[in-house]
Amino acid sequence: MTTIRAGGSPATVLRTVLDHGPIARSTIARLTGLSPATVTTTSNRLIDRGLLRERPTVVAVGSRRMGRPHVPIDIADEPMVCGIHLSLTHITVSLVDLRGRVIATDRHAHRGQPPNTVLDVAVELMTELTADRASRVLGIGFAVGGWVDPDRGIVVEHPLTCWNGVAVRELLEHRTGFDVHVDSHVRALVDAECLFGEPRARRSVVQLFVGNVIDAAFATDGLVHAGPGSAAGAVAHMPIEHSTEHCSCGRTGCFQATLSERVLVRDAVRRGIIEVPDFGVLLAAAESGNPSATQLLVDRSYRVGLVSGSLLDILNPEVFIVCDPGMHVLPECLDAVRAGVAESSYGRRDVVDSVLPSSFHGRLLPVAGGASMLGKLYRDPLEQLTGQLAPAL
Ligand SMILES: [Zn+2]
Repeated sequence: MTTIRAGGSPATVLRTVLDHGPIARSTIARLTGLSPATVTTTSNRLIDRGLLRERPTVVAVGSRRMGRPHVPIDIADEPMVCGIHLSLTHITVSLVDLRGRVIATDRHAHRGQPPNTVLDVAVELMTELTADRASRVLGIGFAVGGWVDPDRGIVVEHPLTCWNGVAVRELLEHRTGFDVHVDSHVRALVDAECLFGEPRARRSVVQLFVGNVIDAAFATDGLVHAGPGSAAGAVAHMPIEHSTEHCSCGRTGCFQATLSERVLVRDAVRRGIIEVPDFGVLLAAAESGNPSATQLLVDRSYRVGLVSGSLLDILNPEVFIVCDPGMHVLPECLDAVRAGVAESSYGRRDVVDSVLPSSFHGRLLPVAGGASMLGKLYRDPLEQLTGQLAPAL
């Protein structure tokens, strides 16, 4: 039986339909333990809000079945959310449906422009992306690395882009009229994994994002832990053995300062493996069989695994998801992360089996933006929509 979730019966019914739809109301009641009357009332409210729809079954001609027709319900196809993801170099916008599928996406190099300019560009891109579909947009999710406080809608600290204390929710709501939810990209990806990805993640999951920023998030029973000030998951300054890289925090040998993408491409250029400091170029070189590029990525994955062993021992999650682009290009990188974990973990012996790549390969950033809003929506589907403002896109 499904546990009735925080967010009450609307969240429970919506999640059950997501997992099992199309599904009869009577089956939802049986699976969740909610009364048939509650399921009927709740599902009708979710249908009224446009999140669910009825899917009448075709009754064969000549069928002798009597009584009320069986009308299963399913997740509605039409509603979508907009996603915005901010990375060190790009703004990525997306349209994502209620099943977490990316319908459309676009991106733009922001070249370190100030937040107001970048958000103006993001809204322009979203306007083009939504075109005649704006009426189907439920809200906007914004996701970024670093320290983000979703309660206040603020990017507290993202040292690489210098977005510090930026009130993104207010700025975007003012520009668009849509409800906006701002969250850390790795917490949004945990929500996506629990909703649409690896089923075991729902029991407990730790996710590590390894890009230009390195951060982590963890969830139990589908609920992400943020902690006071939403500061959980700051692993960027964990120490890496034998590293002498200087970090912006004033120390040497920090995780992010040693193993981020920009450090990796800097090393690759210095060694003559690639000519321009571009991570995509390094990945392409590895994919086309360049042994030096491959070795660089595999070495990094191994060192990521060494650090991950400690996280696994502390939190002992059901699954440990690593978002390392190399893992999707080279199978050796997943093996290397697992080897690093095996080397450094003192925990249970089968711990390496819990290490998995993300379910959203090739669409991590579009999914992260959308999932920032979808996570909120699935936690409290009716509350979310009552706060919707007049859309201006
Ligand atoms: Zn540091």
